[in-house]
Amino acid sequence: MKFTVFGNPIAHSLSPMIHQQFAEQVGVELEYTRSLTPKHGFAEAVAAFFRSGGAGANVTVPFKTTAAELVTHLTTRAARAGAVNTLIPLGYGQLAGDTTDGEGLLRDLQRLLATDDLQREVLLIGAGGAASSVIEPLLQAGATVVMANRSAEKITALQHDFPEIRPLSFTELARPPAIKENANRIVLNATSASLEGVELPIHSAWFTESSLVYDMMYGNVPTPFLQQAKRAGATNVADGLGMLIEQAALAFALWHDGQLPSADKALPIIRAALSRN
Ligand code: NDP
Repeated sequence: MKFTVFGNPIAHSLSPMIHQQFAEQVGVELEYTRSLTPKHGFAEAVAAFFRSGGAGANVTVPFKTTAAELVTHLTTRAARAGAVNTLIPLGYGQLAGDTTDGEGLLRDLQRLLATDDLQREVLLIGAGGAASSVIEPLLQAGATVVMANRSAEKITALQHDFPEIRPLSFTELARPPAIKENANRIVLNATSASLEGVELPIHSAWFTESSLVYDMMYGNVPTPFLQQAKRAGATNVADGLGMLIEQAALAFALWHDGQLPSADKALPIIRAALSRN
């Protein structure tokens, strides 16, 4: 069975390593490659891969939205997110698109907090593809979602689908929160600022010892956002490697008759490999 991930750039994708680790866990053989895809050649690359017998594929930056427009069947959660990260061939040229990003984040937060109860405030910074994919699962898990984005109009647009969102301006983000010690708060960076190597204009009082600070970006050193949080006194911090592995496990299950590999087992192995890079 062959699988791939479409993206551009794609050279550093950990997906092949993660899926090989899952395959070992459940005892299946697979080939998982990286497909560097021309910016305007996504549809052709997908068609060629499935014509050649591909059993499933992941989609990453910058094609998640394009993938949602390309597939013949969209799951409800992918339609709501307007993004697809997993492609499943249905035969006869039909292709289903799903997104496991939101559920992947949720599972990682539940693992880190050691509880399924997410009835707490989540400050979600960013309003791009990653942020949009996580709103629905967070709301369904009972979280109160407060959203801030550099371009405020993106939040206004998201409020059409998710009227429950509480908007927060970047000006307010730069000020201390109204309630400083909010014991259960999760501060979640879903911007690509860390990728650009820059910190966010957020007041240090948002980072308290009792909150969980999470950056969706991951790497072999703490991200700029997590460094910023630690300097301000946060002790409970995590990067997005767990989310990456959880979303991959959910995609794996979609391709392999519901067999869900253990992200807990894979995480230390992938973390060790990442630190050697
Ligand atoms: P998008 O390009 O769709 O969105 C980027 C977002 O970042 C926008 O909200 C943008 O704001 C904001 N932004 C970019 N630069 C800055 C800056 N300097 N200051 C403040 N805001 C900024 O990207 P994605 O949503 O796809 O990805 C976001 C992050 O999530 C990336 O770091 C990516 O690696 C990570 N990610 C991790 C995953 C995982 O499994 N761990 C899965 C998916 C994504 P504006 O609207 O104003 O431009």
